[in-house]
Amino acid sequence: MNIVVCMKPVPDPRRWGKLKLDPRTMLLRRDEVPAVINPLDRNAIEQAVALRAAGPGTVTVISMAPREAEEQLAEALAMGCDRAYLLSDAAFAGADSLATARCLAAAIRRLGDVDLVCCGSYSLDGSTSQVGPQIAELLDIPDLTHVTALSLQGGTLRARCATEGGETVYECELPALVTFDKEVNVPRTASMTGIMRAVSAGVTCWTAADLGLSPAEVGLGGSPTQMLNIFTPPAARKGEMLEGSPSQMAAALVAKLGLRRHAS
Ligand SMILES: Cc1cc2nc3c(=O)[nH]c(=O)nc-3n(C[C@H](O)[C@H](O)[C@H](O)COP(=O)(O)OP(=O)(O)OC[C@H]3O[C@@H](n4cnc5c(N)ncnc54)[C@H](O)[C@@H]3O)c2cc1C
Repeated sequence: MNIVVCMKPVPDPRRWGKLKLDPRTMLLRRDEVPAVINPLDRNAIEQAVALRAAGPGTVTVISMAPREAEEQLAEALAMGCDRAYLLSDAAFAGADSLATARCLAAAIRRLGDVDLVCCGSYSLDGSTSQVGPQIAELLDIPDLTHVTALSLQGGTLRARCATEGGETVYECELPALVTFDKEVNVPRTASMTGIMRAVSAGVTCWTAADLGLSPAEVGLGGSPTQMLNIFTPPAARKGEMLEGSPSQMAAALVAKLGLRRHAS
Protein backbone atom coordinates (compact mmCIF):
# COMPACT_ATOMS: atom_id res chain seq x y z
CA MET A 1 0.00 0.00 0.00
CA ASN A 2 1.59 3.27 -1.13
CA ILE A 3 0.45 6.28 0.85
CA VAL A 4 1.20 9.98 0.38
CA VAL A 5 0.80 12.48 3.22
CA CYS A 6 0.51 16.19 2.35
CA MET A 7 2.08 18.15 5.18
CA LYS A 8 1.97 21.93 5.53
CA PRO A 9 4.45 23.78 7.77
CA VAL A 10 2.54 26.47 9.71
CA PRO A 11 3.66 29.20 12.12
CA ASP A 12 4.08 27.80 15.65
CA PRO A 13 0.77 28.66 17.42
CA ARG A 14 2.70 29.29 20.66
CA ARG A 15 4.31 32.29 18.91
CA TRP A 16 1.26 33.73 17.16
CA GLY A 17 1.57 36.92 19.18
CA LYS A 18 4.56 37.76 16.97
CA LEU A 19 2.76 37.21 13.63
CA LYS A 20 2.35 40.34 11.51
CA LEU A 21 0.43 41.16 8.34
CA ASP A 22 2.36 42.83 5.52
CA PRO A 23 0.01 45.62 4.29
CA ARG A 24 1.86 45.85 0.92
CA THR A 25 1.81 42.16 -0.13
CA MET A 26 -1.28 41.41 1.99
CA LEU A 27 0.38 38.22 3.29
CA LEU A 28 1.37 36.92 6.69
CA ARG A 29 4.99 37.72 7.54
CA ARG A 30 6.17 34.29 8.60
CA ASP A 31 9.90 35.07 8.91
CA GLU A 32 9.86 35.93 12.63
CA VAL A 33 7.89 32.89 13.76
CA PRO A 34 9.34 29.35 13.58
CA ALA A 35 7.31 26.76 11.66
CA VAL A 36 5.87 23.48 12.96
CA ILE A 37 4.02 20.61 11.29
CA ASN A 38 0.33 21.58 10.90
CA PRO A 39 -1.27 19.74 13.89
CA LEU A 40 -3.86 17.79 11.84
CA ASP A 41 -1.10 16.72 9.43
CA ARG A 42 0.47 14.93 12.42
CA ASN A 43 -2.77 12.93 12.65
CA ALA A 44 -2.51 12.21 8.90
CA ILE A 45 1.10 10.99 9.33
CA GLU A 46 0.08 8.81 12.30
CA GLN A 47 -2.76 7.18 10.32
CA ALA A 48 -0.53 6.61 7.27
CA VAL A 49 2.29 5.04 9.30
CA ALA A 50 -0.21 2.82 11.19
CA LEU A 51 -1.83 1.63 7.92
CA ARG A 52 1.56 0.92 6.35
CA ALA A 53 2.52 -1.21 9.37
CA ALA A 54 -0.23 -3.67 8.38
CA GLY A 55 1.57 -4.75 5.17
CA PRO A 56 4.17 -3.88 2.56
CA GLY A 57 4.25 -0.35 1.14
CA THR A 58 5.64 3.12 1.60
CA VAL A 59 4.63 6.38 3.22
CA THR A 60 5.80 9.46 1.31
CA VAL A 61 5.43 12.93 2.80
CA ILE A 62 5.20 16.00 0.54
CA SER A 63 5.26 19.74 1.29
CA MET A 64 4.99 22.74 -0.97
CA ALA A 65 6.97 25.29 1.00
CA PRO A 66 10.22 27.27 1.24
CA ARG A 67 13.53 25.41 1.76
CA GLU A 68 13.35 25.79 5.56
CA ALA A 69 10.53 23.20 5.53
CA GLU A 70 13.19 20.48 5.29
CA GLU A 71 13.17 20.61 9.10
CA GLN A 72 9.47 19.65 9.36
CA LEU A 73 9.91 17.02 6.63
CA ALA A 74 12.81 15.51 8.60
CA GLU A 75 10.50 15.33 11.64
CA ALA A 76 7.88 13.55 9.52
CA LEU A 77 10.56 11.02 8.47
CA ALA A 78 11.49 10.59 12.14
CA MET A 79 7.79 9.87 12.89
CA GLY A 80 7.95 6.93 10.46
CA CYS A 81 7.54 8.23 6.89
CA ASP A 82 9.87 6.53 4.38
CA ARG A 83 10.48 9.31 1.86
CA ALA A 84 10.17 13.10 1.86
CA TYR A 85 9.71 15.53 -1.04
CA LEU A 86 9.89 19.30 -0.87
CA LEU A 87 8.22 21.23 -3.71
CA SER A 88 10.11 24.48 -3.62
CA ASP A 89 10.52 27.11 -6.32
CA ALA A 90 10.41 30.92 -6.35
CA ALA A 91 7.65 30.51 -8.96
CA PHE A 92 5.35 28.97 -6.30
CA ALA A 93 5.17 32.25 -4.31
CA GLY A 94 1.69 33.74 -3.95
CA ALA A 95 -0.08 30.41 -4.56
CA ASP A 96 -3.74 30.23 -3.52
CA SER A 97 -5.31 26.91 -2.51
CA LEU A 98 -5.90 25.81 -6.15
CA ALA A 99 -2.30 26.52 -7.25
CA THR A 100 -1.11 24.69 -4.11
CA ALA A 101 -3.32 21.69 -4.89
CA ARG A 102 -2.13 21.70 -8.52
CA CYS A 103 1.53 21.38 -7.40
CA LEU A 104 0.74 18.66 -4.87
CA ALA A 105 -1.39 16.72 -7.40
CA ALA A 106 1.40 16.96 -10.01
CA ALA A 107 3.91 15.58 -7.48
CA ILE A 108 1.56 12.70 -6.54
CA ARG A 109 1.08 11.92 -10.25
CA ARG A 110 4.85 11.93 -10.74
CA LEU A 111 5.33 9.51 -7.81
CA GLY A 112 2.78 7.20 -9.49
CA ASP A 113 1.17 4.05 -8.05
CA VAL A 114 -0.37 5.88 -5.06
CA ASP A 115 -3.26 4.12 -3.25
CA LEU A 116 -4.13 6.66 -0.59
CA VAL A 117 -3.53 10.40 -0.09
CA CYS A 118 -3.79 11.67 3.52
CA CYS A 119 -4.26 15.34 4.47
CA GLY A 120 -5.31 17.31 7.51
CA SER A 121 -8.91 18.58 7.40
CA TYR A 122 -7.61 22.16 7.55
CA SER A 123 -4.44 24.10 8.15
CA LEU A 124 -3.97 26.17 11.27
CA ASP A 125 -3.14 29.35 9.31
CA GLY A 126 -5.10 29.37 6.01
CA SER A 127 -7.89 27.07 7.25
CA THR A 128 -9.77 26.95 3.95
CA SER A 129 -10.13 23.11 3.98
CA GLN A 130 -9.93 23.35 0.18
CA VAL A 131 -6.55 21.80 -0.62
CA GLY A 132 -7.46 18.13 0.08
CA PRO A 133 -10.70 18.06 -1.98
CA GLN A 134 -9.01 20.05 -4.77
CA ILE A 135 -6.18 17.48 -5.00
CA ALA A 136 -8.79 14.69 -5.20
CA GLU A 137 -10.63 16.53 -7.97
CA LEU A 138 -7.40 17.07 -9.93
CA LEU A 139 -6.43 13.40 -9.56
CA ASP A 140 -10.02 12.31 -10.31
CA ILE A 141 -10.27 10.14 -7.17
CA PRO A 142 -12.95 10.10 -4.42
CA ASP A 143 -12.37 12.04 -1.21
CA LEU A 144 -13.66 11.54 2.34
CA THR A 145 -13.35 14.60 4.57
CA HIS A 146 -13.31 15.29 8.34
CA VAL A 147 -12.60 11.62 9.05
CA THR A 148 -12.62 10.65 12.73
CA ALA A 149 -12.11 6.87 12.29
CA LEU A 150 -10.76 4.84 9.38
CA SER A 151 -10.35 1.16 8.58
CA LEU A 152 -9.27 -0.72 5.48
CA GLN A 153 -10.60 -4.09 4.37
CA GLY A 154 -9.18 -5.39 1.12
CA GLY A 155 -9.26 -2.43 -1.22
CA THR A 156 -12.23 -0.79 0.56
CA LEU A 157 -11.92 2.15 2.93
CA ARG A 158 -14.51 2.61 5.66
CA ALA A 159 -14.53 6.05 7.24
CA ARG A 160 -16.56 7.80 9.93
CA CYS A 161 -16.88 11.43 8.86
CA ALA A 162 -17.93 14.34 11.11
CA THR A 163 -20.83 16.32 9.63
CA GLU A 164 -22.77 19.34 10.85
CA GLY A 165 -25.61 17.15 12.07
CA GLY A 166 -23.49 14.38 13.63
CA GLU A 167 -21.53 11.78 11.70
CA THR A 168 -21.88 9.60 8.61
CA VAL A 169 -20.07 6.37 7.72
CA TYR A 170 -18.90 6.08 4.13
CA GLU A 171 -17.14 3.35 2.15
CA CYS A 172 -15.09 3.85 -0.98
CA GLU A 173 -12.60 2.00 -3.15
CA LEU A 174 -8.94 2.89 -3.43
CA PRO A 175 -7.29 5.02 -4.70
CA ALA A 176 -8.82 7.77 -2.56
CA LEU A 177 -7.99 10.89 -0.57
CA VAL A 178 -8.86 11.32 3.11
CA THR A 179 -8.71 14.42 5.32
CA PHE A 180 -8.42 13.86 9.07
CA ASP A 181 -9.87 15.54 12.16
CA LYS A 182 -7.93 15.38 15.44
CA GLU A 183 -10.23 12.75 16.99
CA VAL A 184 -8.90 10.05 14.62
CA ASN A 185 -5.80 9.19 16.67
CA VAL A 186 -3.03 10.40 18.96
CA PRO A 187 0.06 11.19 16.87
CA ARG A 188 3.31 9.51 17.92
CA THR A 189 6.45 11.42 18.78
CA ALA A 190 9.65 10.73 16.88
CA SER A 191 11.75 7.81 18.16
CA MET A 192 15.57 7.71 18.28
CA THR A 193 15.59 5.11 15.46
CA GLY A 194 13.29 7.40 13.50
CA ILE A 195 15.60 10.36 13.95
CA MET A 196 18.57 8.30 12.71
CA ARG A 197 16.53 7.09 9.72
CA ALA A 198 15.53 10.69 8.93
CA VAL A 199 19.18 11.73 8.77
CA SER A 200 20.04 8.99 6.26
CA ALA A 201 16.81 9.29 4.19
CA GLY A 202 17.20 13.01 3.36
CA VAL A 203 14.72 15.21 1.48
CA THR A 204 14.33 15.33 -2.33
CA CYS A 205 13.53 18.76 -3.81
CA TRP A 206 11.37 19.22 -6.89
CA THR A 207 10.85 22.49 -8.79
CA ALA A 208 8.03 23.56 -11.12
CA ALA A 209 10.05 22.18 -14.06
CA ASP A 210 10.42 18.80 -12.31
CA LEU A 211 6.61 18.72 -11.96
CA GLY A 212 6.08 19.67 -15.61
CA LEU A 213 4.15 22.80 -14.59
CA SER A 214 4.37 26.11 -16.48
CA PRO A 215 4.62 29.52 -14.71
CA ALA A 216 0.97 30.16 -15.65
CA GLU A 217 -0.12 27.14 -13.57
CA VAL A 218 1.74 27.92 -10.34
CA GLY A 219 2.16 30.76 -7.82
CA LEU A 220 0.31 34.03 -8.21
CA GLY A 221 -0.09 33.49 -11.99
CA GLY A 222 -1.89 30.19 -11.44
CA SER A 223 -4.13 31.52 -8.64
CA PRO A 224 -7.69 32.58 -9.49
CA THR A 225 -8.14 34.02 -5.96
CA GLN A 226 -7.52 37.75 -5.71
CA MET A 227 -6.83 39.16 -2.28
CA LEU A 228 -8.67 42.53 -2.12
CA ASN A 229 -7.85 43.45 1.44
CA ILE A 230 -6.40 41.96 4.60
CA PHE A 231 -6.41 43.59 8.02
CA THR A 232 -6.27 42.94 11.74
CA PRO A 233 -9.81 43.52 13.03
CA PRO A 234 -10.07 46.24 15.67
CA ALA A 235 -10.47 44.93 19.19
CA ALA A 236 -14.20 44.70 19.89
CA ARG A 237 -13.76 46.07 23.43
CA LYS A 238 -11.16 48.48 24.68
CA GLY A 239 -9.15 47.15 27.61
CA GLU A 240 -8.16 49.46 30.43
CA MET A 241 -5.38 48.82 32.94
CA LEU A 242 -6.10 49.82 36.51
CA GLU A 243 -3.18 50.95 38.62
CA GLY A 244 -2.40 51.24 42.34
CA SER A 245 -2.57 48.86 45.28
CA PRO A 246 -5.01 45.92 45.13
CA SER A 247 -7.53 47.78 47.35
CA GLN A 248 -7.24 50.95 45.23
CA MET A 249 -7.77 48.93 42.03
CA ALA A 250 -10.72 47.12 43.59
CA ALA A 251 -12.28 50.46 44.64
CA ALA A 252 -11.72 51.91 41.14
CA LEU A 253 -13.31 48.84 39.56
CA VAL A 254 -16.35 49.05 41.87
CA ALA A 255 -16.75 52.72 40.91
CA LYS A 256 -16.45 51.99 37.18
CA LEU A 257 -19.00 49.21 37.38
CA GLY A 258 -21.36 51.57 39.19
CA LEU A 259 -21.72 49.18 42.11
CA ARG A 260 -22.55 50.26 45.62
CA ARG A 261 -20.16 49.11 48.29
CA HIS A 262 -21.69 47.28 51.21
CA ALA A 263 -20.50 48.35 54.62
CA SER A 264 -18.70 45.44 56.24
C1 LIG B 1 -3.98 35.22 -3.42
C2 LIG B 1 -3.29 34.38 -2.38
C3 LIG B 1 -1.92 34.42 -2.28
C4 LIG B 1 -1.27 33.67 -1.33
N1 LIG B 1 0.07 33.74 -1.27
C5 LIG B 1 0.73 33.05 -0.35
C6 LIG B 1 2.14 33.13 -0.23
O1 LIG B 1 2.81 33.85 -0.97
N2 LIG B 1 2.77 32.42 0.74
C7 LIG B 1 2.05 31.60 1.57
O2 LIG B 1 2.67 30.95 2.44
N3 LIG B 1 0.70 31.49 1.49
C8 LIG B 1 0.04 32.19 0.56
N4 LIG B 1 -1.31 32.08 0.47
C9 LIG B 1 -2.00 31.13 1.33
C10 LIG B 1 -2.07 29.81 0.57
O3 LIG B 1 -3.04 29.87 -0.42
C11 LIG B 1 -2.44 28.70 1.48
O4 LIG B 1 -1.42 28.63 2.47
C12 LIG B 1 -2.47 27.36 0.75
O5 LIG B 1 -3.23 27.43 -0.40
C13 LIG B 1 -3.06 26.28 1.59
O6 LIG B 1 -4.38 26.63 1.94
P1 LIG B 1 -4.90 26.40 3.39
O7 LIG B 1 -3.82 26.81 4.33
O8 LIG B 1 -6.22 27.02 3.53
O9 LIG B 1 -4.98 24.79 3.44
P2 LIG B 1 -6.18 23.85 3.87
O10 LIG B 1 -6.99 23.50 2.68
O11 LIG B 1 -6.90 24.36 5.07
O12 LIG B 1 -5.26 22.59 4.28
C14 LIG B 1 -5.77 21.27 4.34
C15 LIG B 1 -4.63 20.29 4.20
O13 LIG B 1 -4.06 20.39 2.91
C16 LIG B 1 -2.66 20.06 2.98
N5 LIG B 1 -1.87 21.23 2.56
C17 LIG B 1 -2.26 22.54 2.50
N6 LIG B 1 -1.25 23.31 2.05
C18 LIG B 1 -0.20 22.47 1.84
C19 LIG B 1 1.14 22.66 1.40
N7 LIG B 1 1.60 23.88 1.05
N8 LIG B 1 1.96 21.58 1.31
C20 LIG B 1 1.50 20.34 1.63
N9 LIG B 1 0.25 20.10 2.07
C21 LIG B 1 -0.59 21.15 2.16
C22 LIG B 1 -2.39 19.69 4.43
O14 LIG B 1 -2.59 18.32 4.58
C23 LIG B 1 -3.48 20.47 5.17
O15 LIG B 1 -3.76 19.93 6.44
C24 LIG B 1 -2.00 32.84 -0.45
C25 LIG B 1 -3.39 32.80 -0.55
C26 LIG B 1 -4.04 33.57 -1.49
C27 LIG B 1 -5.53 33.52 -1.54
